[in-house]
Amino acid sequence: MAKSPEVKLAVFGRAGVGKSALVVRFLTRRFIWEYDPTLESTYRHQANIDDEAVTMEILDTAGQEDIQQREGHMRWGDGFVLVYDITDRGSFEEVGPLRSLLEEVKKPKNVPLVLVGNKSDLDHVRQVGTEEGERLAAEMACAFYECSACADEGGAVAEAFHELCREVRRR
Ligand code: GDP
Ligand code: MG
Repeated sequence: MAKSPEVKLAVFGRAGVGKSALVVRFLTRRFIWEYDPTLESTYRHQANIDDEAVTMEILDTAGQEDIQQREGHMRWGDGFVLVYDITDRGSFEEVGPLRSLLEEVKKPKNVPLVLVGNKSDLDHVRQVGTEEGERLAAEMACAFYECSACADEGGAVAEAFHELCREVRRR
């Protein structure tokens, strides 16, 4: 029998956007309020996506690594979750440069991505409109999800990871 395919996914975004919370939500369906912000971890996770067993390796970056480390993470990954916080415009503005660096590092391949606007439960302090996220995703030709690691009602967090796996497998 064929070995189940392995997909390496890395999660990027400014410190504090909720990368760790999203990864933990995806893996455990739970929300952990405080998570060591300096920690970088890799997890293995198996899932059935479209009736196929997929093994994921997920790298939760700390978001404060130097450029060499960051490029190393980019070379390692097959697909990337770019996360911003809808209540932090600066985190949204960091997505474009991250994407440019990815394109540079992964050249000449075009890079499987999903864009995630996290903390959608904090709509009352929102700084980035849903349409702005949609527009950026359209520019980057990738899928877009607004979601909340702490109140993930529709399962958008898992959907974002699964869609990224599909995107990697399509390449
Ligand atoms: P990271 O630095 O990107 O890994 O961010 P963390 O996962 O450590 O989260 C940073 C902070 O944002 C923590 O205080 C989390 O509790 C909080 N947080 C993460 N996701 C959400 C979310 O969806 N909603 C809200 N309200 N807070 C969140
Ligand atoms: Mg973290």
